Amino acid sequence: MREIISEMEEYAINYNVPIIEKDSIAFIMKYIKANGIKNILEIGTAIGYSAILMASVADDIQVTTIERDETRYMEALKNVKKCDLEKRITVVCQDALEMNLSGVSYDMIFIDAAKGQYTNFFEKYKYFLNPGGVIISDNLKFHGHVGNRDNIASRNLKQLVGKLENYIDFLKNNEEFETNFYDVGDGLSVSKKKNEQ
Ligand code: SAH
Ligand code: MG
Repeated sequence: MREIISEMEEYAINYNVPIIEKDSIAFIMKYIKANGIKNILEIGTAIGYSAILMASVADDIQVTTIERDETRYMEALKNVKKCDLEKRITVVCQDALEMNLSGVSYDMIFIDAAKGQYTNFFEKYKYFLNPGGVIISDNLKFHGHVGNRDNIASRNLKQLVGKLENYIDFLKNNEEFETNFYDVGDGLSVSKKKNEQ
């Protein structure tokens, strides 16, 4: 599997696919192991890199992962197959904001898709957490742009970074969830529902 992972890293560089940073996935894998996480929902598959690594932590872990881009979805399917993980990773080709889940719940939800939609993903999927479950979000620093909006020339980028800053405020002020922020990789947060028994 190591070799397939290396191939994926190479593919990501060649085709400009924003896969997770090594420190961040290492952090998440450690969290999964330490907390006995078994059921994971990922929003933003890309080519399956983080899904495969999360599933690799233990052989009773199940991952459902959503990707709206068809080319990346196909690539993810191929990679999941190569790793023999079809039974434990379900890749869904759909816009996560349009998907309808029912009768399922997760120990961890990993948000790593369109950065301008994080609050919407959070609000939509928080109902699908098991007791004690967490929502982890990636790229909260957005390559150092978050908190430095004045230095950005591009209007679109400025707007996107503004949305991430709003998301961070949303997490900080959230009454339902307690969030810890980690200066790992491109910035991670772990949000846990308050007052769970
Ligand atoms: N988690 C992956 C990287 C994901 S990159 C890894 O670390 O290996 C973000 C992906 O989210 C992109 O491939 C993009 O197409 C997808 N995406 C963005 N918005 C989405 C949405 N609303 N629904 C589903 N996928 C989305
Ligand atoms: Mg990411």
